This record gives sequence, structure tokens and C-alpha cells, in this order.
Amino acid sequence: MNTLKDCILCSAENRWFDCWNLWIQTSQNYFNPESFRLNLNNCIQSLRTITWILQKSKSKIPYFDKWYGKWQVKMKSDPILKWAVDARNTIVKEGDLIIHSKARIAIIENWFTPPIFELDVPPFSNTNDFEKILSKRLSVKQLSLDGLLRVERRWVDSKLPKNELLDALAHTFEFLSEIILDAHESVLSAEDVKKCSWYHVYKPQHKEIHSSMSSIDWNRTIWIDLKSNEIVHVEEKKHKISKKSLKKAKERYSNCLESIIKIKESRGLIEEAKVFFKMAKEILIKDGHHSPIAILGYPNREQRLCPLKFDDRTEKKLVIYKLANIIKSTEATSLILINEVWVAPENNFKLTPNSMESSERLEALTLFAIDAKGNEYHCGIVFEKKDNKIIFKEESEFNFKKYNINMLSPIKAVWKLK
Ligand SMILES: [Zn+2]
Repeated sequence: MNTLKDCILCSAENRWFDCWNLWIQTSQNYFNPESFRLNLNNCIQSLRTITWILQKSKSKIPYFDKWYGKWQVKMKSDPILKWAVDARNTIVKEGDLIIHSKARIAIIENWFTPPIFELDVPPFSNTNDFEKILSKRLSVKQLSLDGLLRVERRWVDSKLPKNELLDALAHTFEFLSEIILDAHESVLSAEDVKKCSWYHVYKPQHKEIHSSMSSIDWNRTIWIDLKSNEIVHVEEKKHKISKKSLKKAKERYSNCLESIIKIKESRGLIEEAKVFFKMAKEILIKDGHHSPIAILGYPNREQRLCPLKFDDRTEKKLVIYKLANIIKSTEATSLILINEVWVAPENNFKLTPNSMESSERLEALTLFAIDAKGNEYHCGIVFEKKDNKIIFKEESEFNFKKYNINMLSPIKAVWKLK
């Protein structure tokens, strides 16, 4: 990792990066109790040292005490910050925190998610034990469903029973980040701030960094394919965080590495969808294929393009849940989803699960668009590949408010909740 050397507060800023890395490692080890405990302890201890390091810069900063005094008052009145201080003392002086793990289990079939039961698992039981418990509790019928089993785990400390642990750490991290940011804006000279790379990277992206940390339920959820009884993953790229990779690393949904475009004026969902579909057809002609992509729209007219990757229906389901999770933690108000599918003439070229098995199946490019207001739009075009050329056939367009795009119901549920 590159170290920051160009600011008076560089030591605190380097520690800030350490804390962020440790938080991510803690979240990545949510289902490995021993690694989770180790990373949790390290993260809590490192968070605590940020304020100590800040105070060491005191001699270089005029009016430090007056400025820092205000933050000390705020920190003392924040129950989670207070917990973090006590937790660090416990770890250093007494040993591990007394943490508990709880699990909520739901069977996901046909996009609807009735939780079938909730169960507590003993702390430090690992994922394998977990599956054994599940197979004892679930009937053969439930286990042979063509669906996904969602297992959501939650770690809590006995001294902070109402808050999930990663949430509590993310709150602490955000609070400490605000202190470092305020130091730049309230006590450092403009000259010093100019030299600071942390400030110029963090400031424009701080909202997204912290919102990505608040959408942690994705990290504490595993998905099991009920047919194969195997854990299903959405492909993830591991990346190490440095200030150079900050922009990429902020988005933990790394199969959704995104680019942001800003459109001049909103044309409304359907008009936008049509523009994207036209572009998609051109891409298909040029490249011979179209990789799945999601386009998220925001009220400030920003649009994020998220390339997706899924190889089968189960993975596609999971990607939809991942998108729902992104939407939950951001202000996104619309979604356009473009991908290739199999359709069959006997099903009238409509999207049906059995089209894939049809001997006369054909490929189609489809687009689904929905927004938070309840608008839905769907269009598609059947195509054939002949001599490396794309030949377009039947084109269909559906613009329906009543028609329910089942596949996207997890996303609709998020907007409904909001
Ligand atoms: Zn700085």
C-alpha cells in the first residue's frame, strides 16, 4: 500500500486506510468465526488509535485543543463510540468480547421470500455445522425445491445487543472520518489541505464510501442452491486498497465495477430504456454478443453502468438480489437491465423458464426497466447468428403497469420499503 506523506495528518490518514481494510476483512470473514474474531479485534483496536495519533499532531496545529474539545464532547455522547472505547479496553485487558451469532433463514422460491423459520446458532459454529443444522430442520420437500436458501447471519456483542457488529464499526469509522475531514476544513491551512491526497480522494466520495459500508447485510448472507445443496457465489474480485485503488475499492460490489455517466435531462424511464436498447442492438451487431448490464438511475440524473456476470438462473437470481442490495443502500430510483436470454417459438418468444430446454430455442436480447414510481417497461428482439453476422427477427415491446415483472420483485420490494 502506498503511504501518505504529504499532509500534517498523514499518520492518522494511514491508520484510517488500515481501519478501512480491516473493516472489509472483518466483513469478508463473517462466516469464518475465528478469522472474524481476529479481524474484529484488530479493527476495534486500530479504530481506537486514530484519535490518539490525531492528538500527537497537536503541536503542529494552532488551536488544536479548542477544536478537538468539541469533538471529545460529541464522542462521549455517542453510545456506539463509547462502546468502541470500552470494547478496545476489554480486548486489550481482559480478552475477547462476548459475541453471539444469530441466523435468520428463508427459502427463496419464485422471487417471493417467506421466512420459514428463524434460528439461533451457537457462537463460533462454522458454515459446515450450519448446513448440518439446516438439513436436520428442513424437510426433504423443502430441500428439493428449485430455489435458493438465504442464510443471514448477525454478530452482536453482549454489551451492545441491539446493534450488529459491522454496523457499529462502520458507524465508528464514519464518525472518526468526519473528525479527520473536519480537521482539514477547520484547522489546517489552505496550503496544507492542497497538499493532502487523502482529502482530495476522500472528500468527493465520502458519502458512497460510508453507504457501501452500511449495506452490510449482503456480506453476512450466504445463499445455498436447494437442488445442489451448494453455496452459490456471485463472482467477486479481491482487491487491495491503496489510495490509487480507492475509487474502485469503495464499491464492494466488485462484479458491478461501474462507470458513471451524467445525462443532460431526464427523458423518463421508457425513453431512456429505448435509447439503451438501441445502443445494445448496435453492440450486439458489433461484438456478436451482449454481456449483461444494469443501469441504475439517480435523482441527480447520474446513471451508473454495472456490468454483471451470471452463468445460470440461480446466479442470475443472486445478481438481482445484489442489485436490490445496492439500491437499498443508495438513492437509485430506476433500473434498466439488459441481457441475452433463450426464447422458444412455442412460448410465443416470451421469457419462460422452460425455453432453455426447447429444441427450437433462439437467442434474444431483452431489456427490463423499472422505477421507484412503479413504471415498468420490457422489450426484446429475437436474433440468429449466421456466418458471424447477427440477423434480427421478431421484435416485441411491452409497456405495462399491471404486468408484474416477477424477476425484479426483490428490487420493487426495496422501493416499497423505502
Ligand atoms: Zn490530510
